[in-house]
Amino acid sequence: MKSIEQIAAELQGYDPQALSATAVNEFLSRLVTPVTDTEELGIFEALDRVLAQDVISPVSVPPHDNSAMDGYAFDGSQLRTGETLTLTPIGTALAGKAWQGTVGAGQCVRIMTGAIMPTGLDTVVPQEFVKAEGDAITLPAGLLQPGDNRRLLGEDVMAGQPALQKGERLTPAALGLAASLGIKTVQVMRRLKVAYFSTGDEILSLGEAPREGAVYDSNRYTVFGLLTRLGCEVIDFGVVRDEPALLEAAFRRAAAEADAIITSGGVSVGEADFTKTMMKQLGDVAFWRIAMRPGRPMAVGRIGKSVLFGLPGNPVAVMVTFLAFVRPALLQIMGSSGKAPPLLRARSAEAIRKKPGRTEYQRGTVSYGADGSLQVRTTGNQGSGVLSSMVQANGLIVLHHGQGNVTAGDEVDVMMFDGVI
Ligand code: AMP
Ligand code: MG
Repeated sequence: MKSIEQIAAELQGYDPQALSATAVNEFLSRLVTPVTDTEELGIFEALDRVLAQDVISPVSVPPHDNSAMDGYAFDGSQLRTGETLTLTPIGTALAGKAWQGTVGAGQCVRIMTGAIMPTGLDTVVPQEFVKAEGDAITLPAGLLQPGDNRRLLGEDVMAGQPALQKGERLTPAALGLAASLGIKTVQVMRRLKVAYFSTGDEILSLGEAPREGAVYDSNRYTVFGLLTRLGCEVIDFGVVRDEPALLEAAFRRAAAEADAIITSGGVSVGEADFTKTMMKQLGDVAFWRIAMRPGRPMAVGRIGKSVLFGLPGNPVAVMVTFLAFVRPALLQIMGSSGKAPPLLRARSAEAIRKKPGRTEYQRGTVSYGADGSLQVRTTGNQGSGVLSSMVQANGLIVLHHGQGNVTAGDEVDVMMFDGVI
């Protein structure tokens, strides 16, 4: 395990007072290590979990060559370019049963979708294309090639091959694929435990009477939601008052119980409270000013074996720093090998002022413009405390470090929220 100092020394041009967003991701990817404990779960329980080993298929899917259509199966070598072909059906192959029989030249077998291809037959003509004449059927010229409308044995998954790979998060499609192989349980990485608390003497817990200068805690709720979406086991330490003994107890308990600790508030430069002091005292922690907006101050490091993410206090800054930095780092700890989903490109419906030299995340709503192409509009007041603009948004417009002003009609990158928050 590398210390903060060692990681900092590895990174070129590391400047804790003006760290770029990409440098933050790079730093965190060196700080965290994936969990190693695994557990075996039934398929239904395994949704969203990270696979701990490849799933090697015990069978081929499909297990036989079979028909992709309702129609007539025949030997495709009888097809002649530019000529019709007349065949006589001699039986019917139904799905779920093997049709036994020998098919000679000029003969065919009526076949249903999914039925095993009778021995020697490799091509299916869909029933809507044939003309029936007495007992025989005639195929039009030029419609088919040998092998058409046949699904090949193992074309989905071949026996002995990895159907799913270690590090994959189990999506609904992956659950279905595992089940299609007859697999009832999978080995997955254990769930992460993540403890979180809010700091600041002005922060009220729900149920407390309002008082002047105080605000209700919203960060614990957004963090709860974000962590739950990721499939983490959450441990809520509430609002911790600005007293060294209380902060120390919270950090120590969190470090003893959790893989990661997320706090909000108390990490900015002018901060008078004890949060930073306690982090420094109990752990190996770096305090950063990140070249970004919103979310400039952040503390990162380790307390005991737990990774610490000390997020800023402003509610939007908490969500943005979580999405940009904490989420990818947690996925790495979870053992996920997945890459962040690609950013969407949309035309900006308006001009946006942007200074080069920092990454800006603006809340945006992506929709279809009059011409049917994707457009994005900011959700108004971009203040880092304005959580309602986060509720209205369906994504974050990512204005990259080197980027300058955006002119209306320019394409911009958007990190969509769907499935993420
Ligand atoms: P700080 O980073 O502690 O300076 O906090 C920045 C701003 O965020 C201040 O206006 C705080 O009142 C506000 N804030 C801090 N923590 C929370 C919280 N848990 N819920 C809502 N607002 C908060
Ligand atoms: Mg504060």
